[in-house]
Amino acid sequence: MSDELVAESRAIREIRINPIVPSESVLVATARSLRPRKQEEPAPRDTRKHVEACPFCRGNEEQTPPEIDVFPRNGKKEWQIRIVENLYPILGDDSSQPGFVYGLQQAIDGYGRHEVIIDSPQHGISIHEMDVAHIANLFGVYQQRMQQLYQLDERLKYVLVFKNFGPAAGASMAHTHSQIIATPVVPQNVFDEVQNSRQYFERNHHCIFCALIDEALTFEAKIYDRSSGEVVRKIDVGQYVIERGEKFIAIKPFASRYEWEIHILPLHHSSDFMNTRQADLDDFAQVLQRTMARLDAVIGGAQYNFFLHSIPQGEEFQNCDQSYHWHLEICPRTSIPNGFELGSGLFVNTTSPEQAAEQLRAVQL
Ligand SMILES: [Zn+2]
Ligand SMILES: [Zn+2]
Ligand SMILES: [Zn+2]
Repeated sequence: MSDELVAESRAIREIRINPIVPSESVLVATARSLRPRKQEEPAPRDTRKHVEACPFCRGNEEQTPPEIDVFPRNGKKEWQIRIVENLYPILGDDSSQPGFVYGLQQAIDGYGRHEVIIDSPQHGISIHEMDVAHIANLFGVYQQRMQQLYQLDERLKYVLVFKNFGPAAGASMAHTHSQIIATPVVPQNVFDEVQNSRQYFERNHHCIFCALIDEALTFEAKIYDRSSGEVVRKIDVGQYVIERGEKFIAIKPFASRYEWEIHILPLHHSSDFMNTRQADLDDFAQVLQRTMARLDAVIGGAQYNFFLHSIPQGEEFQNCDQSYHWHLEICPRTSIPNGFELGSGLFVNTTSPEQAAEQLRAVQL
């Protein structure tokens, strides 16, 4: 048998159901003949340290939209992180048009906040090139701003922190930055996670995210045939762990929609990112930095989106404290969804999550 035939015979072709949001399931199809996704050669990302004409670089502070905050607070010229208004906000401050409901058509007015966080004075720096202390400060800044926004207006139900890094991930500015969007509605995918994990909790009396972490940390599972007693499948479950700190873990979800998708979660149950203490953010920053270094080494210059998912505010979510578990989702962009994926909502992943995790773990840091 040629190597190719051996590889083909081991190919996986299965639909994996996302245990938290079943509608976000994925077809894992590693057979070469089934490769439906075109691997895109991404536009190169800007790696320069300083760009004279960039409004986000030091010295050009007057060129940005109004500043909201700066860190450290006393070091105006030597700033490390800045928060500014978004020049082209997708949401506005005042609700000029009230939301309407007419038949099945619903619209919610575009009320909310849209802000930009300039992550570093260094133009093209990526997360894995930043100091751990700087990353911890950055997430501390996210935390502070989330708290301020929730306090500012109780109509705001969700503050989403996310980052688009590199042109392939939709970043319109080359200078490293993240964004905050605060809305009066909870984004559908977060809402689904919150609702579904709540239902799981009602049935099983424990958090599904904690269960997934336990599963990732379990080393081996054997599935036996009921009648013969023979092993039908052996799963090395520990294979989903990418990186582990004292308080945080980076795992490759079993049903990943994106080839190199990784989630980072606190090892101890916690629903609200805003409750994370500074000392724990240091451990989180270390896990994130090492994870991003692994990604960068494997896929060569990672361009990605990350999203912070934490419990939404408001009375209707107060009973979800034990069932929801905050996390950071990192989705590197190596290919663009094709028509089948967009039309069916079923994503196709041509690298098995087990293989991806193995490659990521093998990187020498
Ligand atoms: Zn710049
Ligand atoms: Zn949990
Ligand atoms: Zn999530």
